[in-house]
Amino acid sequence: MSKTHHRLQTLQSNDNRLIIGGRTANELVAIAGSSPCYIYDRSVLSAKVAQFRELMPAALKLHYAIKANPMPALVSHMAQHVDGLDVASHQEMLIALGSGVAAADISFAGPAKGMHELKAAVAAGITVNVESPLELQRLYECYDDLSIRARVAFRVNPDFELKSSGMKMAGGPKQFGIDAEQMPSILATLDTDKVDFQGFHIFSGSQNLRSESLIECHQKTFELAARLAEFAPAPVKHVNIGGGLGIPYFPGEQALDLAGIAENLQSLIDALPSSLVSTEFVMELGRWLVGEAGYYICQVTDKKVSRGQTFLMTNGGLHHHLSNSGNFGQVIRKNYPVVLAHCLESEELEVVEVVGPLCTPLDIVGAKLPLPKADIGDFIVVLQSGAYGATASPQRFLGHPEVVELFL
Ligand SMILES: *Cc1c(COP(=O)(O)O)cnc(C)c1O
Repeated sequence: MSKTHHRLQTLQSNDNRLIIGGRTANELVAIAGSSPCYIYDRSVLSAKVAQFRELMPAALKLHYAIKANPMPALVSHMAQHVDGLDVASHQEMLIALGSGVAAADISFAGPAKGMHELKAAVAAGITVNVESPLELQRLYECYDDLSIRARVAFRVNPDFELKSSGMKMAGGPKQFGIDAEQMPSILATLDTDKVDFQGFHIFSGSQNLRSESLIECHQKTFELAARLAEFAPAPVKHVNIGGGLGIPYFPGEQALDLAGIAENLQSLIDALPSSLVSTEFVMELGRWLVGEAGYYICQVTDKKVSRGQTFLMTNGGLHHHLSNSGNFGQVIRKNYPVVLAHCLESEELEVVEVVGPLCTPLDIVGAKLPLPKADIGDFIVVLQSGAYGATASPQRFLGHPEVVELFL
């Protein structure tokens, strides 16, 4: 077995064939029963957690934000390795509870939570990250109904932005969280007979590959937490500082360097004000933990030339992998790393348009992609597909079969 140096990650290979978790694509599709399928490699997940533990301050807790990939088997695996789970819906809450993580280590964030979702969280003992003044009133109602004090943390919309994020989720007017300026009056009138104050949640953005931006954001996040702690009605037990760590997808992108981020966090933790010395700090990560562990495999079903361009048609596409098609938050579409499973490297490359089976020109697997010569029946593999894959895709669109997900 040898290692091939792909431009984005080190791939396992044998005889120029892609190997995932010790198996070829042919073998994996045979196990899955059909293609297209997603393969998630548990050893990569464990390695990512280990990397976090090795580099980050020991005092910093790690949560997995399961919306990146809520497959129950994967969540149960992560549950054994991280300190808690973050959920964003009732369905995710049930998956998190099923994974065996204690309710006290689960938190629930998200705008427009339904009353049934709030009630479920309160009954289960899950921390609710409150996102609006009315949501707090609804948690008081939950107390009237269930006689259980909701564990509450306030999701704060900070008075700063996370710069150069793939997706900004804080700063300025936002549907997420409560503006930092409104927090003092909300905390001053908090009815602690009805809710159990836990702390704050300050999540600023997603898919960031610039450590300087994250460092600046962490400094401002700790400052904001210290300011808010002055108004807290009880000791601040937890501060969730968000995540936002990105992974490289596109040519020219580099893996995030955690060393500087870790060093900065350690110095922030070493210099906490007295109001925060017994506070537990949590980082919540989705994509960074699971993105690199996933592979999407589809099969070439046809090949044709149209006015000089070669098209590889496959049975997989945006209905399973919207983010790879470029339609999930990308402004200018770029290719994810895509390989031909049985021939990773070749002297002879062919520039192809790899497309899916949907009747829309948006259904792109790879555009102007230099690949070794592929033929009908060959397997095409999209790398970096463990996060926001199946879960973020419109599987009902056109009614093709649902994608199979395999966790190995
Ligand atoms: C989406 C989300 C995450 C996960 O973001 P990643 O970029 O996948 O790490 C974490 N926390 C909250 C509140 C989210 O909405």
